[in-house]
This record gives sequence, structure tokens and C-alpha cells, in this order.
Amino acid sequence: MPGENVYERLGVRRIINASSWRTNVGGSLMPPPVRRAMDEAAQWFVDLGELNARAGETIARLTGAEAGLVTAGSAAGMLLEAAACMTRDDPAKIDRLPDTSGMKNEIVIHRFQRVTYDRCFRAAGAKLVEIGDSGGAFEWELEAAINERTAAVAYIFAVNQGSSIPLTRVVEIAHARGVPVIVDAAAMLPPPENLTRYVDMGADMVSFSGGKGVLGPQSTGILCGRADLIEAASMNGAPNQGIGRTAKVCKEEIAGLVTALELFVDTDHEAESARWVAMCENMASEIGRIAGLRAVYFPAKPELDEFESATPRVYVYVEDDSDLDIADVEEALKQGEPPVYCYPGEHGRALGLSPVNLMEGEDEAIIRRFREVASG
Ligand SMILES: *Cc1c(COP(=O)(O)O)cnc(C)c1O
Repeated sequence: MPGENVYERLGVRRIINASSWRTNVGGSLMPPPVRRAMDEAAQWFVDLGELNARAGETIARLTGAEAGLVTAGSAAGMLLEAAACMTRDDPAKIDRLPDTSGMKNEIVIHRFQRVTYDRCFRAAGAKLVEIGDSGGAFEWELEAAINERTAAVAYIFAVNQGSSIPLTRVVEIAHARGVPVIVDAAAMLPPPENLTRYVDMGADMVSFSGGKGVLGPQSTGILCGRADLIEAASMNGAPNQGIGRTAKVCKEEIAGLVTALELFVDTDHEAESARWVAMCENMASEIGRIAGLRAVYFPAKPELDEFESATPRVYVYVEDDSDLDIADVEEALKQGEPPVYCYPGEHGRALGLSPVNLMEGEDEAIIRRFREVASG
């Protein structure tokens, strides 16, 4: 009998996503108004330039930036940030990317902030110039790294901030030398305050994911910032034929993203947080009672301004004297019924449980699966 759902028809298992807004488990689920907007958008033809312009105005209004653009995810936003800073509005340079000979092509970045996604800057043809060490950087290192080839200074809000130079100081130092600052804040929403925060701090362009906490289409992102740079980003992207043509966004996704963004700023984030806290407390206390396992609840700490610090989580550890192996536990959870996907915590020494994508009752299902797996 054919399944009710497309995944059933394809023979793909439905999983419990305790992994947070990670792409490899589907990212997030779009609320009904977002799905409706996408369905409506699928029924008419429009001029993409006009649609991008109107969507950009919505982004500008909600981020406090001069201009905005819907991108194909924060990674694509990073590609367009780099491209825009290198080419500006010069069609000859736009045509030449990723060959950056003859243009400002260096992007200064904290070594400590290097992430796998920074390949998106490099994909546009930029050369990364690292400052600092594995813990942070000094201001003089930034000052010394900026020269006549510098296209931008990048700032990534990744796993933790360490002793990174604060963004406000990076902006002061870069702007004093006429260099723009480009930010990747992919996973920094919620809290909604961050939508305006980095622009307020003086960042010239900021890139967010649309398909993480914003609950827009998983393949979308939000780019906002200075009007001239957003225009240059747009010239480098689809539907224009620049380096960003490989990361196109369709009309349905644009419609979904702006709808999700409007909903996001209207959401009762305190009520959401309270729901997340209750599920975490339940999982920590019940899983912590299981022989061989230890569970620790980590409350949200949005003030840290770090990757996912605005959401609470639970880490589950295997006790030292237990026969259980943490990798086996993780695998058994994935292969069981229902399949439960955690995320790797502390370099594989813990199983991370995030409440943000859990539906009603799934915390109980997770507890039951941990009991079954621990008792063999
Ligand atoms: C998720 C993430 C990205 C990529 O965002 P997408 O919207 O999936 O393209 C980039 N940088 C960081 C720090 C991220 O967490």
C-alpha cells in the first residue's frame, strides 16, 4: 500500500530530531503560514528582480539595515559577502570571479574563528589572511594585517568567542582604514534581538540562516547591510550571472523566507524557551537516573553571544565504570524505533540533546529509548 507521506512512499524513516537545527537532519520545520506562502508563490509568475526588491525591503525593515537580500542559506550569504566586497559594482570584476587578479582579494579572519563554512569566502576567490592564535587575537594583529589588498574583515559567530577582538572594536579598526566588516551570524537567531544587533554594532554586511531558528525554508538565508554592498551581492548572485548563480533562490523560497521572518519577530520566544527548558529538565532528570549514564542540563546563555548559546540543552555521558560505549549508544538510538538523532557534544564524549526541534511527547520517547538501549 502506498504511504500517506512522501517519505513513506520513498521508504525514508521518520526520525526524532534531538540534533537542533542541523542540515543533515532536515534543519527545521516550517510553520503552516510559511508553507501556505510557498504554495501561493508556486501558482503565479513574477519578475524575480521585483520580488527580490520587495523581499529585501522587508529584510531591511526587520534588521534595521539599509538593504537586504534573500540568499540560498548563510553559506551562500558568505560567498556573496566576499564577492561583493571584492568586485563592488564593477561588471568586469564580477565576470572574472573566482579569478581575483587585479582586485582587492584578501579577507582578514581570526584563526580562532575559522570554520568549515569559510570555504564559501574562498569559493568566491578570496584569500584568507589569519590573525591571532587558537584562542583569540590582539588588536595590533588586525591593524597589521590590513593593507591595500584587503577586501574585508570577516567575523564569524561560531562555537565560542574566546578572546576574539570584540566586533565593535573590529569595526572601528577596519572602518578607520576604509575596510568593510562582513559577519556570519548563521546560527545566532533566536534571540530576535540579534537581527538588529550586529548591524547596530556597525557591521557592513551580516549573513543569517533562514532555515535554522527562523523556521523558513531550510535552503534560505538572510543577508542584510549597506545598500551599495547588498546591490553588489545581488549583482553577483542569481538571477544575475555571477559567481552566486550556483546558489539560486526560487520565488517560493523567497516568499517562504519573508513570511517566516515576519512570524519570527512576532513569536513569543519566552514561551518557546519555557517549553524547551521543561523538556530539557525532564530528559536530564530521567536519563540521569539510568544506570551507566549521567546527564547534565546546560541552561541557555544568550549573553555569551555564541553558537546556539541562546538555547538550552542536555549532555548525556557514559559513566567511567560502565560497560556501555558512547558510540554504540548513539548508533543504537539511530537504528531503533523511533530513530533518535543526537548531536556530538564535547568532541564525541557526550551525546547532545537539543529540545528545539522536539515535538510534543518526543522527550518521553527519547527517555524510553535511552532506557532500552542502556539495558541492552
Ligand atoms: C549553519 C551555519 C552556516 C551555514 O548556514 P546555512 O544556512 O546552512 O547555509 C554557516 N556558519 C555557521 C557558523 C553555521 O552554524
